Amino acid sequence: MSIAENIVRLKSSVPQNVSIIAISKTRSKDEIIDAYNAGQRDFGENKVQELVSKAGNLPTNIHWHFVGHLQSNKVRNIAPFIYLIHSVDSLKLLSEINKEALRNKRTIHCLLQFFIAREETKFGLSLEEGIDILRSVEFKSMQNIVVAGVMGMASFTEDKEVVRAEFRELIHIFNVLKEKFFSNSQAFKELSMGMSGDFMEAIKEGSTMIRLGTIIFGERN
Ligand SMILES: *Cc1c(COP(=O)(O)O)cnc(C)c1O
Repeated sequence: MSIAENIVRLKSSVPQNVSIIAISKTRSKDEIIDAYNAGQRDFGENKVQELVSKAGNLPTNIHWHFVGHLQSNKVRNIAPFIYLIHSVDSLKLLSEINKEALRNKRTIHCLLQFFIAREETKFGLSLEEGIDILRSVEFKSMQNIVVAGVMGMASFTEDKEVVRAEFRELIHIFNVLKEKFFSNSQAFKELSMGMSGDFMEAIKEGSTMIRLGTIIFGERN
């Protein structure tokens, strides 16, 4: 199957309310254009340098998502154009994003990334850390960011029950934060969960954004 066929097939098999983010890390400009020509407009990258270089050489109506670990000192490079940052895992980072958004006269949408997996290597906040951020005076003073929801990555395992339990954990976190901090806000609505290996489970559990690389573009080298 070609990249374009994969896009068309996925779009027709995924519910309308679930956004597909094509994770294009390591993929060439031509591969991205193939997906773009099939109607894909949301793309995600996990390295700042790679993202900046691609964004400068591809159509300007692409919505670029950042899904990797983001260092505060690199926010400046993506702040002029980034559409959604999925991977906010500290108050310091959020405050840097706010500052750079202000400098660019923008509002930048962010998701808080939570740690839900059994594995040790993945980044993300605990529920308590998320609560601490959202109730801080510093957060409340930020004018140029919108916290639009949460993101999480499940364990890399064949055991679908483990994966589903982890997704439910993220939904629990989402619901707690929604009730505590965003009960009067329409903006807090996104659940970014699900990758090529587990997006069906994620959709069943209520995902609103699935992040797909391999199933669109093939295996990465
Ligand atoms: C690479 C990556 C994906 C996509 O992974 P696939 O298994 O290729 O679909 C999704 N989310 C994040 C954060 C990634 O780094």
